[in-house]
Amino acid sequence: MKKEKARVNTYNQAIKHLQENETNLHVFYGDFNGKINKKRMFGNGVFIGTNKRLFVYTWGAMLSLNYIHIEVSTIEKKKIIGNYKGNKFTISVPFEEEAQEAFNFLTSKKEIATDPFNFEEYRKIKQIVETKRTCTVCGETWYYDKGEPMKNFGEKMENVGSDASNMGSDMMCCTGCLPAAFLPRHQKKEVRDLNECPNCGSKAADKETVVHDV
Ligand SMILES: [Zn+2]
Repeated sequence: MKKEKARVNTYNQAIKHLQENETNLHVFYGDFNGKINKKRMFGNGVFIGTNKRLFVYTWGAMLSLNYIHIEVSTIEKKKIIGNYKGNKFTISVPFEEEAQEAFNFLTSKKEIATDPFNFEEYRKIKQIVETKRTCTVCGETWYYDKGEPMKNFGEKMENVGSDASNMGSDMMCCTGCLPAAFLPRHQKKEVRDLNECPNCGSKAADKETVVHDV
């Protein structure tokens, strides 16, 4: 179930990079491992076979393989072994049937696009990872990125500091000491509990990791 969600998420991210006139012919999930343009490439992601290219979208990178240069030679259970411009690559998929389907697709005759297609064989992409929470009580969704819990922790520390200094100034005030009135009294920042629904305050929420391209 979680894995299915992750797949859908990756797929939704990937299709944003497809061109308008690209037709989505075949989709499969797995690992790509090989050398492309002398660069070692590997990663878990989604493979989208379009009418123009084999688009590989992994964490942190995407790759456009031109069908003209893809030579798929062997299939071993869940592994497809091929060659791209003289470099060996493997595609591993979670299920044997998927490997067979992917193999059939890759070895099938495809119409090569006649209109110019801007081939960029390997491109690094910047991604941010966020945590998405969905309240199981009211359905509210909220996000926080990996940096935010740290900032939240920082704010908590700051509050500890201001509590101490406020307490200090109060104590000083009790003695009637005037300069104490000039001690900084920090406004207490509201610390948002990231586990708490901002709408209804419930702590019952589903947690999911989502990736966005930036
Ligand atoms: Zn709620």
